[in-house]
Amino acid sequence: MLDKFREECGVVAIYGHPEAANLAYLGLYALQHRGQESAGIASSDGRNIHCHKSMGHVADIFTPEVLGRLPGELAIGHTRYSTAGDTVLLNAQPFSVACNKGRIAVAHNGNITNALELRRELEREGSIFQASSDTEVILHLVARSRERTLSGALREALLQLEGAFSLVFLAQDHVLVARDPHGFRPLAFGRLELSGGRICYVFASETCAFDLISAAYLGDVEPGEMVSVGSEGMTRERYAPVRDRAQCVFEHVYFARPDSIVFGRPVQESREMLGRLLARECPVDADVVVPVPHSGVAAAIGYAAEAGIPFRQALIRNHYVGRTFIEPSQAIRDFGVKLKLNPVRHLLEGRRVILVDDSIVRGTTSRKIVRMVRGAGAREVHMRISCPPTVSPCFYGVDTPSLAELIAANNTVEEIRRFVEADSLGYLSLSALRESVADENHDYCYACYTGGYPTDLVNIEELMGAKDRRR
Ligand code: AMP
Repeated sequence: MLDKFREECGVVAIYGHPEAANLAYLGLYALQHRGQESAGIASSDGRNIHCHKSMGHVADIFTPEVLGRLPGELAIGHTRYSTAGDTVLLNAQPFSVACNKGRIAVAHNGNITNALELRRELEREGSIFQASSDTEVILHLVARSRERTLSGALREALLQLEGAFSLVFLAQDHVLVARDPHGFRPLAFGRLELSGGRICYVFASETCAFDLISAAYLGDVEPGEMVSVGSEGMTRERYAPVRDRAQCVFEHVYFARPDSIVFGRPVQESREMLGRLLARECPVDADVVVPVPHSGVAAAIGYAAEAGIPFRQALIRNHYVGRTFIEPSQAIRDFGVKLKLNPVRHLLEGRRVILVDDSIVRGTTSRKIVRMVRGAGAREVHMRISCPPTVSPCFYGVDTPSLAELIAANNTVEEIRRFVEADSLGYLSLSALRESVADENHDYCYACYTGGYPTDLVNIEELMGAKDRRR
């Protein structure tokens, strides 16, 4: 059964570099925050496509020996996050197949909202699927297309897809990339000049991947655009009619790295602005502004600067929390949160604290953190959230729980305040969020804050059900 949302992934593509797989590896390393469950790279040496994927972190998977088995000047890479129950290697990307269009591999960031329908139709007609991932649907559509060229087949396949997708394709001698017509998920491109005047083209979910490989950021693949790179150079083509843009605002709120430029805007600028506007909209008399690391740091800096209240890192995060740790046999209260965060008691004792974070989803972590800050001696704890209440699940590639589990979908702000046990709770308004990302032309998707989905979701009950089933 196809039950999974292609969630929170990072993609890269490299064309024209003698060490393409190594560059893809470095790009993925910079995109590790976009997915920590599995990673993979496919490379082409002009004849064969070589692929390696595994569960785990990029730096652990790609040893020099593994990278040595990925030859060629073209490569694509993927890093993936998914929730428990669906962390099987079968779903790791890239997917690689040999079909009548040659050898191809694909990796995907986003969520195809009509994947269930497409898959049922394909299965009825005899297609066999190996994984539960919607990305495989794209490969089947490409393979079945009557178009003779790969770009023709890809165009035909893309036009059947609905929802969010930033895709990277690898063929024997081409790299092709595409973004859905609404442009939900980011996809940037850049280039690297090699000796002898050769140009290497690079694509990535975020520009922080370019910085690590010293590539220059040139711009974004446009919504509804397909870009092909081969020995003839780079060809850009609009494959779908212009639609309203719906860039994911959550990339700026939480997901992307602050050192990235996403949708042409520096993320750090948005985050600091979120904090500044939050301070204007939800002021409170207090002694210190404390971020919840790391998600609240940039907004807390903005809040503190605007409010004129000192910024203090009074919650320290252990960066090295891995998956394997020995849990004490005697239960320790809030062990999971304590493992990640520890309060700096002398910064909190007797103080009135403003705790800044980017979002409250279920409220359970936030409650533990408020308790922790109070337990360290804070006199008052005022929680400030740098976006509006999260009231609707995302069907476009962000991992949000089902409606039933979203605390703001079922409770008022006052009820949430009581649940997280804060003295006060303030959220940023939608108009301030819009201002923070400089959205003058209504180019962003705010569905998680408004419930207004920018595409028709004919199967919304099924999509909602899938979110319920996997929790
Ligand atoms: P909770 O209090 O349990 O709702 O957890 C809130 C925390 O989850 C905040 O620190 C957020 O930064 C973090 N968070 C929000 N959205 C996501 C997401 N999609 N994936 C992982 N963490 C998230």
